[in-house]
Amino acid sequence: MSELTTTNKSTIMNTYLRLPLTLSKGKGSYVWDQNDHMYLDYTSGIATLNLGHVPPEVHAKVTEQLDKLWHCSNLFEIPAQQNLADELTSLSCFSQAFFCNSGAEANEAAIKLAKKYAKDQGNEERVEIVSFTGSFHGRTGTTLAATAQEKIHQGFTPITPGFRYLPFNDFESLEKINNGKTTAVILELVQGEGGVRPANLEWVQELANACQKEDILLIIDEVQTGMGRTGTLFSYEQYGIEPDMMTLAKGLGSGFPVGALLAKDKSALSFQPGTHGSTFGGNPLAMTAAKATLDTIVSHHLVDEVKRYSEKIFTKLHEWKKEFPAIVDVRGKGFLIGVEFDKEVKGIIEGLRKNHVLALVAGPNVLRILPPLNTTEEEIDQFLMILHDILDEQLKEESS
Ligand SMILES: *Cc1c(COP(=O)(O)O)cnc(C)c1O
Repeated sequence: MSELTTTNKSTIMNTYLRLPLTLSKGKGSYVWDQNDHMYLDYTSGIATLNLGHVPPEVHAKVTEQLDKLWHCSNLFEIPAQQNLADELTSLSCFSQAFFCNSGAEANEAAIKLAKKYAKDQGNEERVEIVSFTGSFHGRTGTTLAATAQEKIHQGFTPITPGFRYLPFNDFESLEKINNGKTTAVILELVQGEGGVRPANLEWVQELANACQKEDILLIIDEVQTGMGRTGTLFSYEQYGIEPDMMTLAKGLGSGFPVGALLAKDKSALSFQPGTHGSTFGGNPLAMTAAKATLDTIVSHHLVDEVKRYSEKIFTKLHEWKKEFPAIVDVRGKGFLIGVEFDKEVKGIIEGLRKNHVLALVAGPNVLRILPPLNTTEEEIDQFLMILHDILDEQLKEESS
C-alpha cells in the first residue's frame, strides 16, 4: 500500500489543501470565522459570490421559493426556468439555454452539442475540438481533456480523445484551427485558473473570423468571466465578437450550484428530447437564485461599478509594479485581477490573512483578487492599504 493511502485520516477525500480556517457566517464583502473574527473576503467563493455573501435580494426570492417548490424534474414546465432563459437570451447574442449544476457540466453540454451539430450537418469527419494552452474547463473525464494542461491529465490517461491543443494568444495557431476534422473551438477570454491571462483582442477577432469562415463553432467558457465579473455582463462583449455558444456557472447563482449553456439557433437545435438532460439542472430553487442574481446585477448597474473601481485598483497596482521590482506583471479585466510575482505568493496570502483579508492564488506566483461586484469604495481602499503594507513588509525587507 502506498503512503498516500494511509496518511489521510479524514473521512473527506483528500482533494483539497485546506486553510486552517472555518467560515461560519457571511454578509456582503465580509465573513466571520468560528471565533467570530471578521475578514474582508476578496475570494468571493472563487468568483461565485458576485453579490457578496447572503445578498438580501436573492435571499428574499429563495426563501419565498423554499416554501413553495424545490424540485420537480424537467418532465414538467418550470416557469422560473423559462424566465431565466428569456432574460439570459435577451441580454446576450444567444437564443436558447440549457441548465445544469456546474461549470464542468455546462462545458460537457457544449462539447456534446458541438459534436452533434457536426453529425447533423453530415460532417461525420468533424470530431475534434481545439482548446488552448493554460486553459481550464473542468475536472470531469471529458472537460479535463479539454483543459490543455499536462498536470491536470496526469494519472488519468487514457483521457477522452478528440481534443487538440494550440498555443494561447499565438497568431500562428490561427492557421492550424482547421485541419479538416475540427468542429469547435473552446476558449476562455480571461484564463482564470491558468494565471489570470486575458486573450489578445485582435487574436480573438481573427480567431472568430476564421471559425465563422470554416463553419467551426466558437464556444466561449464564461464560467469564471461571466455575470459581470470582467466589467461587462459577459466578457465576449468586450471583444466585438458573437460566439456560437457560451457556458456559465460560478457567478450565476450567488453560491447556489447552477450552470448554463447558451447557444445560437444554428447549433442549439441539435439538442432534441433524448439527446441531453439533467435531473437537477434547471430546478425551481436554482432558477430562482440565478434569476434574482441576474436581476440584481442588472438593476443595480453593477457592471458600471466594476468598471469604475477596477480602474482605480489597476492604477494602484501598476504604480506598485514600479515600486516593487518583485511584481512581474499586473493583468486581468474588471474584478478578475492577477498580480504575478517573481516568487511564490503563499507568504503574501498568509500576510493578508493575518490582517483579516482573504485573497486567492492562480498558480504559485500569481495573486488573484476577486472582490464581489458590489464591494464599496471604502472596502477597496481598506484592501489596497493592507495589501500595500504587506508588500512593503515582505518585499522591502528582502531587498534590503
Ligand atoms: C471553475 C471553472 C470551470 C469548472 O467549473 P465547476 O463548477 O468547478 O465544474 C470551468 N471553466 C472555467 C473557466 C472555470 O473557471
